[in-house]
Amino acid sequence: SRQIAKALRENVNFMWLSGMNRPDFRTINRFRGKVMKAVINEVFYGIIDQLLEMGMIDLQSYFMDGTKIEANANKYSFVWKKSTQTYKARLQEKVKALLEQIDELEAEEEKEYEDRDLNEMGEGKEIDSEKLNEVMEKINQRLKNDTDNKDLKAAKKQIEKDFLPRMKKYEAYEDILGERNSFSKTDPDATFMRMKEDHMKNGQLKAGYNIQVGTQNQFILGYSLHQRPGDTLCLQEHLEKFYANMGLYPQNVIADAGYGSEENYAWMEKRGIEAYVKYNSFHYERKPSYKKKNPYRADAFVYQEGEDEYECPQGKRLRFEKEGIRRTEGGYESKRKIYRCVDCSGCPVRGECTKGKGNRQITVGAELERYRRTASERL
Ligand code: SF4
Repeated sequence: SRQIAKALRENVNFMWLSGMNRPDFRTINRFRGKVMKAVINEVFYGIIDQLLEMGMIDLQSYFMDGTKIEANANKYSFVWKKSTQTYKARLQEKVKALLEQIDELEAEEEKEYEDRDLNEMGEGKEIDSEKLNEVMEKINQRLKNDTDNKDLKAAKKQIEKDFLPRMKKYEAYEDILGERNSFSKTDPDATFMRMKEDHMKNGQLKAGYNIQVGTQNQFILGYSLHQRPGDTLCLQEHLEKFYANMGLYPQNVIADAGYGSEENYAWMEKRGIEAYVKYNSFHYERKPSYKKKNPYRADAFVYQEGEDEYECPQGKRLRFEKEGIRRTEGGYESKRKIYRCVDCSGCPVRGECTKGKGNRQITVGAELERYRRTASERL
């Protein structure tokens, strides 16, 4: 806001845009933070509608890419999902041990309580803060009948002062994390990710956001903010946001190999979007050395229609062995078929073809191959 206010005083372009108005930076800040926040989406897509009417864009081609921006957060304020899970599991073990200890001590002292089941409370189900509160309730009840029980008093203190606050902290962390692997304590919406700019050249992860943008004719047509570092799974969410605001999908989507997954190809095909999207080996496959270097790669084996078999470069058949499913992070199920050669013994090129002891096998994702072929032909 201060920068904009300064530009309005000093920059002739800004002066022209504002009609010589020079609002205070506080006014600009209030406008951006409160007024615009509520209407930014409406204004943004209203402008897209106008651009469409004026013929400046036609939404036929949608060029999509993403970038990561660093959050205004402390570099060392990270909370990792794995550490949280480990610390929480350790704490649960400590709680269980304490409950066991109390019950054992009481059994030794032969004190009969009808509800001597603290230990049972820690069994089976996961111990959470709610359960710890129930344990505290039971301990308080017992203390009413046995006010001088030092063990119970010590246990109560430990749960109250240490276990319960820690459990609540881990639960709060898990709520914030959701499906993410990390967040920043100083900006809980930010996730730790690798940034393009790595001034220290140490690959340090920084708190940030993944911004996805779609353009045509140098106009931004869509934007979305994501908490995941990879671009692949952002595509569907991004285009769904575009659809929710515009009521249609772009006809063609053009994007780099970061988006070229089977899941994305299938998703776009289902919605009638033509994908001009590369896949990870797109450029590598086009190098003249590719075929020379890998004469026994899986795609050099020829599919035999009708027989559901492959033929290797030495003329041997590979028969269908089994089918498997690979489930992606986004829940997409990708089919993979495994074919194995009937007999590789005595093959003069065996050393080049396979490192395994048995007959050569190849794994084929028929749908993935089809999507890649289509993308390759379009590009
Ligand atoms: S090793 Fe087996 S699959 Fe590979 S070329 Fe020789 S016979 Fe064919």
